Amino acid sequence: MGITRKTKSVKTLLKVFEQTNNAISVVELVERLRREMNKTTVYRILERLEDEGMLHSFTGKDGLKWYAECKECSPSRHLDSHPHFQCRDCGKTECLHINISIPSISNYKIDSAELLLIGQCEDCLS
Ligand SMILES: [Zn+2]
Ligand SMILES: [Zn+2]
Repeated sequence: MGITRKTKSVKTLLKVFEQTNNAISVVELVERLRREMNKTTVYRILERLEDEGMLHSFTGKDGLKWYAECKECSPSRHLDSHPHFQCRDCGKTECLHINISIPSISNYKIDSAELLLIGQCEDCLS
């Protein structure tokens, strides 16, 4: 698969991410883009943008899939081994740009790691 042609649908979807620093759940994306494209198109574009290192996904609580923009990824390598935070009160979900070290375990090969921190965001704390 080549570099994504910036079709109108791709642009529309990327614009949703440009408007926020937070992650967006698949459910919310489908809802927000309801008028522009159908669910299947949203899923297909998300998958493609993830392949190309523009978005990354992770699993939030309740098993929902979330997407966020990648900062320094390329199609060949996803560098998003950062943890994610999810607020239990308002649901705000975001990338935490801190490094976590993934343990190396002898005789095992680790391909990816996911760490979800759940708690209260600064707005809900105050
Ligand atoms: Zn909150
Ligand atoms: Zn992230």
